Amino acid sequence: MPALKTICVYCGASTRVDAVYRETAARTGELLARSGFNVVYGGGRLGLMGIVADNALANGAHVTGIIPTLLQDIEGAHPGLSEIEIVDTMHTRKRKMSELADAFIILPGGFGTLDELFEILTWRQLQMHDKPIVIINTNSYWNPLKLLISNIIEEKFATPAHATFAKFVASPDEAIGALTDLPEPELGFAGQHV
Ligand code: AMP
Repeated sequence: MPALKTICVYCGASTRVDAVYRETAARTGELLARSGFNVVYGGGRLGLMGIVADNALANGAHVTGIIPTLLQDIEGAHPGLSEIEIVDTMHTRKRKMSELADAFIILPGGFGTLDELFEILTWRQLQMHDKPIVIINTNSYWNPLKLLISNIIEEKFATPAHATFAKFVASPDEAIGALTDLPEPELGFAGQHV
């Protein structure tokens, strides 16, 4: 796998979450910057999204935000980003974020984060890309998702190979390590990039 340059971060926009999640977001932003990665994310200033961006920027990363017109008012665009792109729809946002990314880090989040995660997971399953996907399981937040994935495989709605597409790690430090140490996908890759 060629060297990774730009990492897309998907995470929650809620401002009401426990400090343990905010610490994960801060450390993720800091480590991404210190490891020399560019960051792309949804462009918001609130919640874990804003914290990742703040800490990546503070440590010298180039941070690009992709935000739909609709969310500029609801969530608020981050005012201090290296680059911000205003797009027309949520679908364009997700497409642009995934196109710019060489890999994905998923932090705890809500429905929006799950939507983003499952889109890139299914695109990988469909061999539309072969980019690493790393899920940070802070506070065991994603344990129910791990269980669901096990059940999906147990009941043969997906294969064990599909489960390897998303790597669960315990911390931002492990996530950065995993980005350079992921196994090759077991399915062939058709070479069609998102
Ligand atoms: P959440 O995990 O629900 O806090 O959402 C995280 C981010 O994903 C927020 O910026 C949401 O506005 C965004 N989001 C929610 N639904 C979608 C969607 N269908 N497509 C793209 N982004 C979304």
